[in-house]
Amino acid sequence: MLTPNMNYSHLKSSYLFYNIAKKTREYLAQHPDTHLYRMGIGDVSLPLCDAVIKGLHKAADDQADAATFNGYMPECGAPFLRSAVAGYYRGRGVEVDDEEVFISSGASDELGDILDLFDRSNRSLIIEPAYPAYVDANVMGGREIIHLPSSRDNGFLPLPDDDTDAELIYICSPNNPTGAVYSREQLKVWVDWANAHNSVIIFDGAYEAFIEDETIPHSIFEIEGARTCAIEICSLSKTAGFTGTRLGYTVIPKELVRCGMNFNEMWVRNRTTKTNGVSYIIQRAACEVFTEEGQRQIKENIQVYKKNARTLMNALDKLGIWYTGGKNAPYIWLECPDKMGSWEFFDKLLNEAQIIGTPGAGFGKCGEGYLRFSTFGSPEDTEEAARRLLELLDK
Ligand code: PLP
Repeated sequence: MLTPNMNYSHLKSSYLFYNIAKKTREYLAQHPDTHLYRMGIGDVSLPLCDAVIKGLHKAADDQADAATFNGYMPECGAPFLRSAVAGYYRGRGVEVDDEEVFISSGASDELGDILDLFDRSNRSLIIEPAYPAYVDANVMGGREIIHLPSSRDNGFLPLPDDDTDAELIYICSPNNPTGAVYSREQLKVWVDWANAHNSVIIFDGAYEAFIEDETIPHSIFEIEGARTCAIEICSLSKTAGFTGTRLGYTVIPKELVRCGMNFNEMWVRNRTTKTNGVSYIIQRAACEVFTEEGQRQIKENIQVYKKNARTLMNALDKLGIWYTGGKNAPYIWLECPDKMGSWEFFDKLLNEAQIIGTPGAGFGKCGEGYLRFSTFGSPEDTEEAARRLLELLDK
């Protein structure tokens, strides 16, 4: 008898985004033609930069001529892009071989697929509040999850203690949803712990390009010892507006070995079996992100989001509301005023100021009492949202 993967029956319904959409729909039904200030969105609003657009056009033309046409791309990534990504790391003083870089269609795909490398009995430690895909990918795989709650007391940046016990550790820094970033010293504690316990860190660096504080590591591989205990998963989605264009990369050092099995070699085997590579056109265009001009242009876009962050942070500072994030991340994680619950504050913002945030409770129990603002909206909407916030909460 065919048996479905019954682990799917253990998935919690994605109540968070479903409920936000429902409440928004209901509000608009009662208040048609009202403009809403959507500070909850996790998608970018600016278009691709000019260098990438030119790269896309040029690559499309390549496909029109037999002399420059490309068929299947190498499964692990086009050599030109693997080399460009390795060069990007080198530019920050991190030695990465081209063969340690794997090109993907995005971080989400990799965060789920990478679990293929680990035995089902391995337990995954997930720091909460967390990006929901970590939990769901582990539930689908029937894996045991160890939830590590964080709080304002540790700045939402917990460290291992005597009770910590897991084979896989998810670390997202800069963090979604909290925007918190681990310092070099804190990441070293996790790396030392992972090496001492033979564990592997899955480091999600999707927001590294938003780091502006020079002391904060962009990559786990800036930390001594990480090459023997970490895999890094990155994305051009927020860095360069590739949410709809799709491109990511994963770094697996050749020194990452457990029980005589080399994870880099295993991933080559996995990719050559389960993918046929990422489109030539997208990889060519992605290459432009790593050129000097491409870096200049994407930073210009990131500055727009950073200005939005400053606008919101200024309002929160004036209101005396505690928050983390915003400076090195496109998310601001704030404590709901007057001890309101996440959904209660969400409703107040929607009904009284037409602002939509993301209730923190949707990212894990310890997110209750917090709300996430994203900085990916338009500057005009963000400024008006900040003004409305001040008007609503200034006593
Ligand atoms: N990791 C984190 C922490 C994210 O917030 C996101 C997207 O929002 C992703 C990964 C997924 O990125 P991608 O668009 O490359 O799949």
